[in-house]
Amino acid sequence: AGSLLAGTGLRKAYGPTTALDGAEFSVHPGEIVALMGPSGSGKSTLLHCLAGIVRPDAGFVGYDGQDLTGMSDAERSALRRTDFGFVFQFGQLVPELTCVENVALPLRLSGVRRRAAEDRALEWLERLKVEDVRTRRPGEISGGQQQRVAVARALVTRPRVIFADEPTGALDSLNGELVMDLLSDAARKAHAAVVLVTHDVRVAAYSDREVVVRDGRATDMAGAI
Ligand code: ADP
Ligand code: ADP
Repeated sequence: AGSLLAGTGLRKAYGPTTALDGAEFSVHPGEIVALMGPSGSGKSTLLHCLAGIVRPDAGFVGYDGQDLTGMSDAERSALRRTDFGFVFQFGQLVPELTCVENVALPLRLSGVRRRAAEDRALEWLERLKVEDVRTRRPGEISGGQQQRVAVARALVTRPRVIFADEPTGALDSLNGELVMDLLSDAARKAHAAVVLVTHDVRVAAYSDREVVVRDGRATDMAGAI
């Protein structure tokens, strides 16, 4: 009880490859859960099913009393926009927009006026120490700077669930810590649920719970102790 997002009996195959084989998962508000496990074990597929990006072949995803798996594509994308934030390793920034416009975009899409949206975007660029690239386009800045801009864009809407796939992958240690501190603040102060995929034990150290994914099944390490 009390979980904000939960998946049960999740199955997903890509042709002959079974990516998920009955995975179970849940996360509470304010909790950070790290999905760990070998490459190809199903971590990203699980993350994508929970986020409503990939539709599982079987099983259910529940979010805040709603059945995500039963929703139409339009309903799920509307929910993703209002309630979820995404930090992916190759954070798909819009190449034609400047960094501040990229971060302001999710606010603009939810009806915030340009001036207010860009003011808030700039605050997040400052928190991530990339305010100096605000008028540049993604193609003109480094991979690490792009990743921090993508983190700003994911957090600017104060999402209730944050999905992060290798959120520090392109960063040096100092910026990795900065990003993880901001994700921690989102959980501790704003009670966001954070689901992250990582191979890095320093990133996993920020989590409340580690879930190991193996052969398409998820095992909570707390349950194994
Ligand atoms: P992980 O994130 O743990 O590395 P993935 O969830 O990416 O694992 O992948 C699980 C399995 O599903 C792998 O065998 C992978 O090759 C396969 N897979 C994932 N996505 C696709 C896809 N879009 N098309 C085909 N196979 C895929
Ligand atoms: P390497 O020497 O292997 O390049 P780095 O120290 O540059 O290692 O960091 C590798 C990865 O680990 C980066 O993604 C970085 O952001 C992340 N990282 C390093 N230290 C921390 C930390 N204390 N907390 C969170 N992430 C970290």
